[in-house]
Amino acid sequence: MKDYEAKDGTMIFAGLPVTEIADEFGTPAYVTDEQRLRENYRNVYSAFSKYMDTRIHYACKANTNLAILSILNQEGTGIDAVSVGEVMTCLKAGIPADRIMYTGVNVSDAELKAVTDMGVMINVDSRSELERLAKINKKLPISFRITPGVGSGHSDKVITGKKGSKFGIPKNDVIKTYLRAKELGFDIKGIHAHIGSGGQSVEPFMDMMDVLTDTVNELKENGIDLEFIDMGGGIGVPYKMNEDEMDLNELAMNVTDIITENTDIETIILEPGRYIVCDSTVLLTRCVDVKDAGVKKYIGVDAGFNTLIRPAMYDSYHYVAIGNKFGKCSTAKYDVAGPICESGDFLAHDRALPDPEEGDVVVIYNAGAYGFSMSSNYNSRPLCSEVLVNDGKAELIRERETVEEQWKHQIVPERLRQ
Ligand SMILES: *Cc1c(COP(=O)(O)O)cnc(C)c1O
Repeated sequence: MKDYEAKDGTMIFAGLPVTEIADEFGTPAYVTDEQRLRENYRNVYSAFSKYMDTRIHYACKANTNLAILSILNQEGTGIDAVSVGEVMTCLKAGIPADRIMYTGVNVSDAELKAVTDMGVMINVDSRSELERLAKINKKLPISFRITPGVGSGHSDKVITGKKGSKFGIPKNDVIKTYLRAKELGFDIKGIHAHIGSGGQSVEPFMDMMDVLTDTVNELKENGIDLEFIDMGGGIGVPYKMNEDEMDLNELAMNVTDIITENTDIETIILEPGRYIVCDSTVLLTRCVDVKDAGVKKYIGVDAGFNTLIRPAMYDSYHYVAIGNKFGKCSTAKYDVAGPICESGDFLAHDRALPDPEEGDVVVIYNAGAYGFSMSSNYNSRPLCSEVLVNDGKAELIRERETVEEQWKHQIVPERLRQ
């Protein structure tokens, strides 16, 4: 993982001192580097398109800010959407329906109707979903998500491809389900699997691709020809300073090799979420309190697990720096903790950092994926703002929510009103 540059002891983000961004927009705020976002998209696209026809379906659950979707739309992205809300948000950002694929799990009939009414193709997750979809819309093309029996991920909570998973068509039912879809008259385009999120090695992707290509050939013997293989997302990114990036070229070469050697499939779809947005964004938060609790020292900041839940939920590591003391020697180890009233509310444990003071700008790295999108109103704290920086210019792309907005949908029955 790469670090940022410093000028006069202050961290520079996309050409701007982080202190300036924090002063102008307040904290906490997610701040995105537009150029880095574009680079990530281009990196993953060009790694694969060297070898075969490639479509990138950005897994937008990682980050659905409309400005970020608009940037990726300019890059030509397609979308992996998992809810009606995500589909509507992507359409709102200008992404055409025919570049969106919907991969839901435990999908209701209402959701199937809403998504297909918008002209979005369904990646079917179960036999039940297929039968229900047949009664709702048979005109749009479909593909199937299968359970590949291969899993990978940064935490057990995000491994999706293992045998017995709630996701996908179980291996033994795959051929039967495709044949049933053909009988129902569906236009079947592809096959999909997603092993999990944030794994750092190439092997699980290759193992999954072996399963997918074998299935493609078995389907062919059964009279079903597919156009694409969708390898899902899950490309990991380094969160620690000494960790290397995954070798995208090695991944692309190995995976596409399995396809071109064994099948006549010409198109590969990938659904990277984390890879595209993760390191484009930092979370800026401010030190509001410093405490020496004897056995532990704390840096108290204004962002907690309401703002970034990954450390509390998955025990995820996010690198932390003090933006206005950038490159200064560390004095002790600190826990970085937020304002939420739970002892599980922390952003980092035991980090060697320079002497903290109230007012310092604390920077949480790699916050672009599953950061804002998983944030909440817990403790009645408003959702934070989002900022986009391009060429040394910062623009607000989401206003900080107000407390009043949290009351908007609540109703106090007449009899209880004072
Ligand atoms: C979450 C998800 C992805 C993206 O995973 P990343 O690890 O963010 O790349 C891709 N496809 C599906 C179906 C998903 O559910």
